[in-house]
Amino acid sequence: MKRRQFIQTSAQLGAALGASFMPFAARAASYDVIVVGGGMAGATVAKYLRMWSNNQISVALIEKDATYVSNIMSNEVITGKRPSVSSLTYTYGTLSSRYGINRLQGEVTGIDAINKSVTYASAAGSSVLTYGRLVLAPGLDFDLMPGMASASQYDTVIPHAWKAGSQTSLLRAQLTQMADGTNFVMTIPLSPYRCPPGPYERACVVADWLKTNKPNSKVILLDANATIQAQAVNFQNAFNGAYGYRVDYRPGCTVTNLQIAAGAHTVNYTQNGTPQTLRAAVLNPIPPQRAPSLLVNSGLIDGRFAPVNLLTYESTLKSSIHVIGDACISGMPKAGHIGNQEGKTCANAIVNLLKGNQYALAESSPVLNSACFTPVTSTKATWLSAVYQYSNGTMVPSAQNGYAQPRVATSASTDNYADMNKWFSTLMGDTFA
Ligand SMILES: Cc1cc2nc3c(=O)[nH]c(=O)nc-3n(C[C@H](O)[C@H](O)[C@H](O)COP(=O)(O)OP(=O)(O)OC[C@H]3O[C@@H](n4cnc5c(N)ncnc54)[C@H](O)[C@@H]3O)c2cc1C
Repeated sequence: MKRRQFIQTSAQLGAALGASFMPFAARAASYDVIVVGGGMAGATVAKYLRMWSNNQISVALIEKDATYVSNIMSNEVITGKRPSVSSLTYTYGTLSSRYGINRLQGEVTGIDAINKSVTYASAAGSSVLTYGRLVLAPGLDFDLMPGMASASQYDTVIPHAWKAGSQTSLLRAQLTQMADGTNFVMTIPLSPYRCPPGPYERACVVADWLKTNKPNSKVILLDANATIQAQAVNFQNAFNGAYGYRVDYRPGCTVTNLQIAAGAHTVNYTQNGTPQTLRAAVLNPIPPQRAPSLLVNSGLIDGRFAPVNLLTYESTLKSSIHVIGDACISGMPKAGHIGNQEGKTCANAIVNLLKGNQYALAESSPVLNSACFTPVTSTKATWLSAVYQYSNGTMVPSAQNGYAQPRVATSASTDNYADMNKWFSTLMGDTFA
């Protein structure tokens, strides 16, 4: 989204709201906007709704967890570069104190789109809250892999660690405890999945760690896709030994069964149709992903994710309900930086919708940008950036300043690593502070 456009919108809105805007309601259980999910997309939309309405729109942010743990950078916890997930943990205090967001801890368990209400379960019990607009930013759920008995196996024995937190710590512990000479096996689902470069990044930093700590062990990467899904040249170079380690990369692999036995798993899969078997001391399946069942049960899904109008992020299936972040179909990568930008686009749209300014929406043509830095060793990183422009109902890569999109770093460097840390703290500050 163009910064200048937002600043103008905000200034115009302030004047307009002061003159004519009537908040939807000030009752305790009723809000102009309820946001469900306080991750990258949800925290951003809540903050910018308040900022760009000059605090005129009442906003409740419902998040089930007490704090948010960033997925971004969580691969560094697995290798011990970061000591624990606590350095990736964000609280909601500033969103409440600085922006006046009503933060509620609990889980939204049902949506009544006709009466515009949600059922919300908290430590205090179950209650119903009503909204003028509902924004859903709940992230993703994960399928069971073939052979699994229950999702709890992800928490106890084969962590996907694709939602950062206790599974990230478990995967770290398993890596440090595996015997030298055994395999660390990862699986990648078919696209689209959360963070296209993320699995390849994880394979690289784990292989880099093994190089020093367990030199006879290796990373085997079973990819359901036919090719590497992002930064293909950079990752292929890394896998081939550019940084002193190798990754055994196997494309076109479909997992057919997992036999789970702590420390000695068996993975059955086909590669391009041929049955194969291998043993894994550590098994890190990244499962197929989909929008959470809350959206499925509410009739908001087409396939695995939620279709939306990309000017407003309003569902194309239910009015007054918006879906942002990984749960929606945007045509852009499922990424935290993109979720942050979708949150701003959605906030701008809702502010305009609530003051009846259809004209501003019709005229708007959002431009979103995204950067993704990728550590490939404990000191070097690459990056990818992309700019997307709204065009006829879709988001298309847009050449900016003469650069074709996406742009990719030509090699990994320590300078990129330093830039990565700056980018990360800026993004998280923009989202949570
Ligand atoms: C290893 C890894 C590395 C990554 N690296 C990058 C990167 O470098 N750059 C990048 O841009 N992206 C990266 N990503 C992707 C990024 O983390 C996600 O795309 C982003 O977090 C999605 O944001 P979201 O708001 O949609 O979901 P989330 O951030 O997952 O937030 C969803 C929130 O909703 C809450 N919630 C869900 N259901 C309910 C409910 N019913 N009631 C209340 N609360 C609910 C959840 O508890 C959660 O806090 C990475 C991901 C991984 C796994």
